[in-house]
Amino acid sequence: MNRITTSLLAMVCSLLVTFVVRAEEASVRHAPPFPEIVVAPKVEGQPPERYEVLRGDFHIHTIRSDGKLTPEERVLESWEFGFDVIAITDHRNFVAHDEAQPVADRLGMILIRGMETGLHRMEHMVALGFASDYTPRDEHSWDTELDGPRVHYREQWPKLIDAGALMFLAHPHVGTDPEGQWMAETGKPLETPWQHALREPIKWGLDQQLLHGIEIRNHLVRAGWGVVRDRGTMWYPMALDWAVEHGLTVFANSDVHGWRKDSGAPDEDESATLVLVRERTPEGVMEALRAGRTVGHFAGMLAAPQAAAQMLVEGLTRVTYRCGGDGPTLVRIENRGPVPLTARLVSHELQPVEIGAYQSVLLELEATPDELQIEWVNVLVRSDASLVTRHAPCAS
Ligand SMILES: [Zn+2]
Ligand SMILES: [Zn+2]
Repeated sequence: MNRITTSLLAMVCSLLVTFVVRAEEASVRHAPPFPEIVVAPKVEGQPPERYEVLRGDFHIHTIRSDGKLTPEERVLESWEFGFDVIAITDHRNFVAHDEAQPVADRLGMILIRGMETGLHRMEHMVALGFASDYTPRDEHSWDTELDGPRVHYREQWPKLIDAGALMFLAHPHVGTDPEGQWMAETGKPLETPWQHALREPIKWGLDQQLLHGIEIRNHLVRAGWGVVRDRGTMWYPMALDWAVEHGLTVFANSDVHGWRKDSGAPDEDESATLVLVRERTPEGVMEALRAGRTVGHFAGMLAAPQAAAQMLVEGLTRVTYRCGGDGPTLVRIENRGPVPLTARLVSHELQPVEIGAYQSVLLELEATPDELQIEWVNVLVRSDASLVTRHAPCAS
């Protein structure tokens, strides 16, 4: 690398913390960069696939429902927290979208039209990317009774789909006990959270292919919302399993109503839905969400079904070797991204090692294995399983 390139790089790096100067104060954006994710082509001769990793939050409220911030404040705050794409998802309406768009445009943020809707007092769903002329009916209170006073979910849900919506299940806190009695009405957490089960309206939506995604983490909800304390935080590990079983896109959102700094767990960074996009546009984001290219990032963990988790981790890391010859085999694992990763060499006695953001570790092996398997301890692909990648150390 020549000197000009080096100093250009230094300049680019110094721009990573960007300042917007308003009349009296400066807004600082904290957004440590993700590298480009390059995936080798499946067919030889084809060019590699390239993805940009965007930080997304697809469940947010403003004063247009029960939130505390104006749409404009919400966009600026989300930008300061490092988000690249957000959906404002007020209950019952989506008027905040148009109000927020000019600010989003000024900041270069992507805004997706959204609304929280769903069943009366029961399952909430978030609709994303639907047409602006969609006219909701009984916006947050679909009926489960066919002859009930409000519109039946089997009538209204497909209407959103027809309007182009992508639908995900928010804070999936309802479930059944072994006798099949629905527990969420009590408002109490289940004694044995693993008895959570999807119930009829959602099962019907899955059968009809009307449900595309699910929140595995909602930064706001705590005990009483059926969340499980697991791996030192509160989340919905069962929802990760449901995502795997039903081919759903995973989301890790804030559901923030007040200011972000005052919301959720005080000792944890904001949750994010990492989205691997082919292009940085609203259409590019919707394409990635429909294709399932998302990874939940919260409480120091990454979580997603295997394909998305593997794509992200292989793109963020580089594993290289010094093989054979004189001396032991050296394995170098480089973390090229902003998320600390914990790696464990499967079938080796070594302790798991944490590889900090943009750091590398060097491991010494006494013998050269035919295949090296790395378990990424803080990258979950099921509620009880971490991602394992395979590497051929000294093939050539
Ligand atoms: Zn809700
Ligand atoms: Zn909400």
